[in-house]
Amino acid sequence: MASLSTRLTNIVGDRTAQVLEKSFGITTVNELLRHYPRRYVVRGELTDISTLIADDEVTILAEIQAVNLRRANGKNILEVVVTDGSAKLSLTFFNQAWREKDLKVGRVGLFAGKVGVFKGRRQLSHPDYQLIPDGNDVDAAVAEFAGKFLPVYPATSKLPSWKVMQCVNLALESIDDLPDYLPIEIAQEFKYPSLKKAFLDIHQPPDLDSAENARQRLTFDEALLLQLLLGQRRNEILKLSTKSRTPNTPVLVAAFEAKLPFKYTAGQIEINAEIEKDLSNKYPMHRLLQGEVGSGKTVVALRAMLSVVDSSGQAALLAPTEVLALQHYRTITKLLGELAQAGTLQAGAIGTQVELLTGSLSTAAKKEIHAKLASGQTGIVIGTHALISDGVAFNDLGLVIVDEQHRFGVEQRDALRMKAKQPPHLLVMTATPIPRTVAMTVFGDLDISTLRELPGGRVAITTHLIPVLEKPHFLNRAWERVKEEAEKGHQIYIVAPRIVNPSKKLTEREIAAAQLLGEELLDNEEMTAVEELAPQLATGALKGLKIAVLHGRLSSEVKEQTMSAFARGEIQVLVATTVIEVGVDVPNASMMVIMDADRFGVSQLHQLRGRVGRGSVPGLCLLVSNAQEDSQSMNRLQSVAATLDGFELARIDLEQRKEGDVLGRSQSGGKSHLRLLRVLRDEDLIQRAREVALKILGINSDMDHLPELKNEVAKLQDDEAARFMDKS
Ligand code: ADP
Ligand code: MG
Repeated sequence: MASLSTRLTNIVGDRTAQVLEKSFGITTVNELLRHYPRRYVVRGELTDISTLIADDEVTILAEIQAVNLRRANGKNILEVVVTDGSAKLSLTFFNQAWREKDLKVGRVGLFAGKVGVFKGRRQLSHPDYQLIPDGNDVDAAVAEFAGKFLPVYPATSKLPSWKVMQCVNLALESIDDLPDYLPIEIAQEFKYPSLKKAFLDIHQPPDLDSAENARQRLTFDEALLLQLLLGQRRNEILKLSTKSRTPNTPVLVAAFEAKLPFKYTAGQIEINAEIEKDLSNKYPMHRLLQGEVGSGKTVVALRAMLSVVDSSGQAALLAPTEVLALQHYRTITKLLGELAQAGTLQAGAIGTQVELLTGSLSTAAKKEIHAKLASGQTGIVIGTHALISDGVAFNDLGLVIVDEQHRFGVEQRDALRMKAKQPPHLLVMTATPIPRTVAMTVFGDLDISTLRELPGGRVAITTHLIPVLEKPHFLNRAWERVKEEAEKGHQIYIVAPRIVNPSKKLTEREIAAAQLLGEELLDNEEMTAVEELAPQLATGALKGLKIAVLHGRLSSEVKEQTMSAFARGEIQVLVATTVIEVGVDVPNASMMVIMDADRFGVSQLHQLRGRVGRGSVPGLCLLVSNAQEDSQSMNRLQSVAATLDGFELARIDLEQRKEGDVLGRSQSGGKSHLRLLRVLRDEDLIQRAREVALKILGINSDMDHLPELKNEVAKLQDDEAARFMDKS
């Protein structure tokens, strides 16, 4: 008798096993049973021959009407004509004359293949088929067949759905008793079938309700295992010991708050308290702080850093780009004023040193900062990947803040944390709002704080679409608007998806190769490019305005100079790539024009437009696009124009992305443990799984009371963790 771990060679034979492995990466009974049907067909849902469309993979039920074997061009050609009453279809086989003895006139069977067209007639060549057993009364056989729900599997031409079905049936027959890792009380509580019954019902459903129940159970399994894994990770963090960072006298925090030119929002007060509490623990904080651009995250983060410095530790802020690191450095030194000047003539009685460490510093400058970090002279360091480099060592790193988390892998985050003698407290900041269920799945090992309000309320940002194809004159009007805005003394961003267009277009061969590999070919299309648009505008539509460019290929000095000049108002129009996406804060900027807006994600557009309307001036954002009216791209842009709710847009974004991208895994792999779970659709299920997981871990955090379930979680950890967690 087989078990879930039995290899398929023992069940379906070597050749089929090979095809299964090649097609789907499936090698064991377990993996095959988790190759779930996409849907089910009842007989009436089999494709009618009269409705066949070329290139479709179809399965038809039909009767053989004529069989003809002939020779042409030195080949035996077997032509079989079948009919399902609605129309006829020819099936052709080359050099397979032996099939003539099976394919007899009057027999009924299932025929599966890809619809081709030959001399204007539709046909299946070399279809797979399954004849209804001889000797059976055809009517009875068909009647029996008609009552069944046939699973439709993800299939390939080598492995059509019904062949997968045969393999699955063999596997189901071969397993006897299946131990169920889900505790029986839980299965009963939610009226879930046992694992064995779930496999049977999802693959061979007696009715669609049973299939759905089975699917629910198996989806719940996925959610539960994931929640248990994340819960275990949280528990592991609780077991780590670190220094509690409660200052005896919070002098820096007090001095900082005394000079803060505004009052904290209610949200900031709440989160400050949460963080203070976290920092007082003897295990590391592990918290995600989410809030839209401008919601006041940096201020919260700074206060946390100051607390740590007050308790004689150091804090590091890791930013994904130099522009952003610089921006943080500026914001922070500005907010701190003389509090950031310890050791200089400007210093007051209280203070620390704040340093900016990026890759573009000279070696000497880096060395100097390294020395100050090692001695503890520098309390706060802000930087890019340079912070992770080998030369960096801290005297006593107590807090790591990672901004824009999704751009860093766990390894990078951990590389920085490794630089501390004890695991440091961790605060992850993100400006991309994360729907609750995604937070629970992807970020499930972090505590979450959300800043929902913007300080001082939201200044209105109006967003309009400029459909260049339909209304080309709107674009001229847009440039007029830019000029008007500049005349009022305001500043404007123009964002483009490219720095320059590649000089060389891909050849047809390169395109074919790329398509073969499934690569996206966006790169071959002309897009608005910063280095092309800026000179064009400077000599054309925006002649006379002070225009500068900003993008990732400029040296950091140039970038810094440009940003400060823009911040000082010396530049009126900044033509930039998405380097301005995060953090850049110029209150006088009132307008943004986004070229080829359909090239950007919905959340990204929202993020970008958050750069304007930050001061007292209302913001205007124009989304320029060459997309067709009513196209999906245009509709996406419409939704951006229609709402300022970042959570809503994040949801739209997610709905349009493949689940694999959401959970950071590839859908195509045959071995993924997360096959059924959909973070948006299965919100309730995930919530339920989370509660169950908490209960289980609450009884025994090592799960020793549920060894089978523990084992399943360990497997998920082994197989999936590395890939999956990398994105968290
Ligand atoms: P984020 O990091 O979330 O983008 P910041 O912390 O940079 O937001 O804050 C955005 C702007 O709002 C900054 O200019 C900051 O000084 C200001 N700000 C932050 N908190 C408040 C507050 N409570 N009241 C008024 N302004 C605030
Ligand atoms: Mg910020």
